[in-house]
Amino acid sequence: MSDSALNSSGSILQSIGIFGGTFDPVHNGHVMVARVALEELGLNRLLIVPAAQSPFKPEAALAPAAARVELLRLALADLQRCELDLQEVEREGVSYSIDTVRAVAERFPEAQLFYLIGADHAATLPQWREAPALAELATFVVVPRPGEAVPVVPEPFRGQVLAGQPTDISARTLRAKLAAGEPIEDWVPPAVAEALKTMHLY
Ligand code: ATP
Repeated sequence: MSDSALNSSGSILQSIGIFGGTFDPVHNGHVMVARVALEELGLNRLLIVPAAQSPFKPEAALAPAAARVELLRLALADLQRCELDLQEVEREGVSYSIDTVRAVAERFPEAQLFYLIGADHAATLPQWREAPALAELATFVVVPRPGEAVPVVPEPFRGQVLAGQPTDISARTLRAKLAAGEPIEDWVPPAVAEALKTMHLY
C-alpha cells in the first residue's frame, strides 16, 4: 500500500486510480492490472475509462463503444471498488487524458489521483496534450508489459512502477484469435468469452 497522504486539516486523502484505454476488447491483462493496482496502491476506487478514440490509434476503427462497455461490465463485475467511468465515450471524439483527469479531480477534489499507464506508453507522456498540467494532477503508475523495458517516468511527471507479474496478452492478439475462430477462454473472463461468441465484433 502507498503511504497515505494527508490534507491540510490532517485527514487521510482518498486514493483514486484512473485506468484508461480502448479496451477493444477487455482481456485478462486489464483485469490483472486492475486487481494489482487496487491492492498495491490501496485505492479507495479505481475508475476504468474506456476511450471514444485514442490519440495513439487515430486510424483504428474500434468496436462500438456500447459493446466495449458491455464487455467491461462483465469483466469487472467481481472487482470491488472498481467502477466504469463513461465520460470519454459520452464526450465522443478523440479522448485526451487531461480532460479526463481534470474531470476526476473536480469530482474528487480532496483525492490523491493515480493514473495507470502501460510500459508501452510511459515514454510518450511528455508529448501528451497539456503535459505539464497533467503531470501536476496525478501520480503516474507504470504497469510492466512483457517485451517492454520499464521506463523511468519522464520529467515532469511523478510516478512509480506497479509490481506484479506482467501478463503477455494484448487486445490486438485477442482480436486476431477471435477473427481466426481460435479459442480465447484463457484470455478473457468466462462471462466475456460467452458474450464475445454472440457479438461477432472482430
Ligand atoms: P491493443 O493491443 O489494441 O493496442 P491493449 O491490449 O494494449 O490494446 P489498451 O486498451 O490499449 O489494450 O490498454 C489500456 C491500458 O492497459 C494501456 O495503458 C495498456 O498499456 C495497458 N495494458 C494492456 N494490456 C496489458 C497487459 N497485458 N499488461 C499490462 N498492461 C496492459
